Amino acid sequence: MPIIAQIDCPYCGTKKSGFQAEGQFRRLESYNPMSYNHSYEDWVFMSCGNCRQTISAVYLYNGKNTPSIDIWSKKHGDPKNFGFKYTNHYPKETAFDEPKFVPDKVLIPYQQAISNITSSNWDAAGTMARKTLDVATKDMVRTEFETREEEQERLLKKPLHFRIEELEKHNLLTKALAELAYVLKNEGNDASHEEEPYTEDDARKIAEYAQALLTYIYTIPGMVAEVRAKDEVGKEETPTE
Ligand SMILES: [Zn+2]
Repeated sequence: MPIIAQIDCPYCGTKKSGFQAEGQFRRLESYNPMSYNHSYEDWVFMSCGNCRQTISAVYLYNGKNTPSIDIWSKKHGDPKNFGFKYTNHYPKETAFDEPKFVPDKVLIPYQQAISNITSSNWDAAGTMARKTLDVATKDMVRTEFETREEEQERLLKKPLHFRIEELEKHNLLTKALAELAYVLKNEGNDASHEEEPYTEDDARKIAEYAQALLTYIYTIPGMVAEVRAKDEVGKEETPTE
């Protein structure tokens, strides 16, 4: 049995997926006569236990032994058990970009939508994408109406459809984004209630809609805030004339 390592899969998005070694290459080796230490840089070609796609992982060794790559990479267990230290793997970018600056409570249902896609649970992915929208609109209401408790309470009690309507009315969602939100909501309802099976195509589309909305609601304002903070620092550092 070949070695197994737990790595987040860049292809299917499975967290800590079990990767198994399929091939190996020793790129560098050296010996230090002062310390009697051998150093190796070994590259291992590994396949994901979930989607079978492959990555290359880099392992380093530094010690007194002279482990042959052909032997250690065919052993069973984690490479660190044989004195090898994981350092990197390629490619690393995931097929689904995770939108930045999204609060955890909103990010979690989104991540669940993605992980349902990677495990081919299409209708569950649709349901979780809709939940992402539901939680994100509630979060928007809480943030925007922080100081107006009554209004906040009233909007939080509204069904999703009316909450989107109100967010649009208050110019918190543009017309185009409100439309996208309605589509996401309706698609998500289909995933939960329709007898017709929800397809992979449907699931991937609805996840893209959710990603686009989160990008607009959180990522762009987060980036703008970062730029502004940098500008402020720049101003402080520039001496005034
Ligand atoms: Zn995978």
